[in-house]
Amino acid sequence: MTHWLPVLVHTPVHSQVAGPLTYLSTQTLPVGSLVRVPLGQRELLGVVWDSPTDAGANSLDPDKLRPIAGSLDGIAPLTPAWRQLVTFAARYYQRSLGEVALAALPPQLRDLNTLQLARRLKKHAKGADTAVPGSPITINSVALTAEQTAVLNRFDLEAGPFLLFGATGSGKTEVYLHTVQQLLASDPSAQAMVMVPEINLTPQLEARFMARFGPLYGENAVVSLHSGMTPAQRLKSWLAAHSGVARIVLGTRMAVFASLPNVKLIIVDEEHDPSYKQQEGARYSARDLAIYRGRLEGAKVLLGSATPSLESWYHSRPASEGGRYVRLEMPSRIGANAALPLVRRVDMNHQPKKCVFSPPLLTAIEQRIARGEQSMVFLNRRGYSPVLHCADCDWKSECPHCSAFRVFHKIDRTLRCHHCGYTERVPRACPACGNPDIAPMGRGTERLEEHLAELLASVRRPNSVSAQWPEGEPVRIARIDADTTKLKGELESQLARVHSGEIDVLVGTQMIAKGHDFRRITLVAAVNPDNALFSSDFRAPERLFSLLMQAAGRAGRDADISGQSEMWVQTFHPAHPLFEALKRHDYPAFAAEQLTEREQAAMPPFNFQALVRAEARTQEVAQGFLTAASAAVAGMAEADRLLQHITLYPAVPMSMQRVANVERAQMLIESPSRAALQRFLSAWQTVLHSTRQQPAARGLIRWAVDVDPLAI
Ligand code: ADP
Ligand code: ZN
Ligand code: ZN
Repeated sequence: MTHWLPVLVHTPVHSQVAGPLTYLSTQTLPVGSLVRVPLGQRELLGVVWDSPTDAGANSLDPDKLRPIAGSLDGIAPLTPAWRQLVTFAARYYQRSLGEVALAALPPQLRDLNTLQLARRLKKHAKGADTAVPGSPITINSVALTAEQTAVLNRFDLEAGPFLLFGATGSGKTEVYLHTVQQLLASDPSAQAMVMVPEINLTPQLEARFMARFGPLYGENAVVSLHSGMTPAQRLKSWLAAHSGVARIVLGTRMAVFASLPNVKLIIVDEEHDPSYKQQEGARYSARDLAIYRGRLEGAKVLLGSATPSLESWYHSRPASEGGRYVRLEMPSRIGANAALPLVRRVDMNHQPKKCVFSPPLLTAIEQRIARGEQSMVFLNRRGYSPVLHCADCDWKSECPHCSAFRVFHKIDRTLRCHHCGYTERVPRACPACGNPDIAPMGRGTERLEEHLAELLASVRRPNSVSAQWPEGEPVRIARIDADTTKLKGELESQLARVHSGEIDVLVGTQMIAKGHDFRRITLVAAVNPDNALFSSDFRAPERLFSLLMQAAGRAGRDADISGQSEMWVQTFHPAHPLFEALKRHDYPAFAAEQLTEREQAAMPPFNFQALVRAEARTQEVAQGFLTAASAAVAGMAEADRLLQHITLYPAVPMSMQRVANVERAQMLIESPSRAALQRFLSAWQTVLHSTRQQPAARGLIRWAVDVDPLAI
């Protein structure tokens, strides 16, 4: 007997094939089964998406249908909840179901054929035997603080979702470990998922979870999932999670789609971090999907941050005011002396002109060196210096292909565009006027490091007198940014040098401000944070505040020395409310002020946004497509109803208007109602597709919708 099997495959994003395709099968495979199917000349991975029907039950021509190529019998079917998650994500983020579903599976499932996979499964099945079943040994964990105990009690009693608002070093990670521990001990098959924003932070977290849970549940019980892993490792982790062998899955945003048939707890650490939003393809927010998935699967969701996103903060206002999340608070850092660092603002209006390190900051750094303590200086920029500049004619090293400046890289004396990658050797003289004296403008981390080295050249470290250095050794400065950590393992080895005390001053980008636990740093300095105060991006102040709080949190992690730790901010606007709130470590005050502004300006979270982006050879075509699609709204069925509460703005060039000779335009759509926005976008999809086919769109390269965009 032959069955008709609806199978979801990865069809091109904008193809008209939105739903599953029908194949023939002699077996009735359960919904959620993985199969391999022919499509054109290729053989693809597919997921059985609906119940099979008997041949003849619908109007398809049986002669045109092809049989499936095989089924992956060794892998249990994906659960209904997983399929529902994928369905929701595809609909909400306006992508095809096949794209989202198949992209959520590990690449090797797609790339290996049935035979290769069968072999792989056999190997994993052997490895899985080593897992130790849950045993009632008590774990030698620390005694909880009063704040941790209170938080855990409420977590037990309520349903959530929860927002854990806890200062850096307040013991949030310890709370995560406890919630996981309680879950695994109480339910022998339950699984927990823990998400972190950056790959760099997974090894640290993995070590902590492995140390706690490895001895209890076996090494296979904790697995990681992130894009830095090899395809083989990813498949292995995915299979462990899918089969239930893995009890704890640690990962970056992609982990939100992992198949965990028994997930009962989802933790999103540093929930405010922008990396939770995917920036290409289906532009999903892993944090928002975690909330949805929790509700879907009956899993508790715990978001954690010292500086929550304004969205989550707003959702966790008192229930009496409409809040939907439970806010849990841990204001104190752990340890008797673990006070938050003192914030010092240097008014740059009263410092020597053009100085990068103000004299008081320099003195403070020298004092740390004299005491054998470490300092950290950070700048949100990479490269030796952003732009090469001619003082005579004002020529700047613009990229000929993008509306961006190329960055001067001293190491190989090149000018590189960070957007399209266009690279040239540095010219000997100004290409516009011939002036041989062209120089870097502004400063990147590399130049900052060099400049600091000059300023500290005569400083000697005490207690380091040797035959070679009778007056003590020079200061040791290190730099950590995207350029110095390109190779695998470099970041780890540099961090290790900081931890072991081989470094006196660490210079870097925001990369060093996040998450790392530096114990002997007692001074953190932001040398030039002002530009974010006056950015066109309405989220820039939120980012800056969070970055500065995170950075401050790096100082004085060691209770013995944290009493003297300081956060320095050099600014031309010392009285700015953002810095006032920072000085008091007062996130709630900062958030209240920002939320008032956002409400007055009708910005998220008081308003919902979507962007349609278009790319073409000319700006005219890119904008023309958007304008045509917008004009076509009037002709849509029930246009009046759909347009209720919707504002469509005119098409504009994107702030990064040109990348690699491609012109980019965008159009903003806003609504005070999420549901209204969703209804409109779903109906408008068809219009966008058909506008694409019209003469107005000739020359259009691509278009895409970004729902809840992070930058507009
Ligand atoms: P956060 O994640 O909030 O930054 P952590 O959980 O990393 O904080 O805790 C900060 C430090 O305090 C860590 O070194 C951790 O081991 C320690 N710590 C956490 N909870 C306790 C506790 N109850 N007793 C003693 N030390 C603790
Ligand atoms: Zn470029
Ligand atoms: Zn010139």
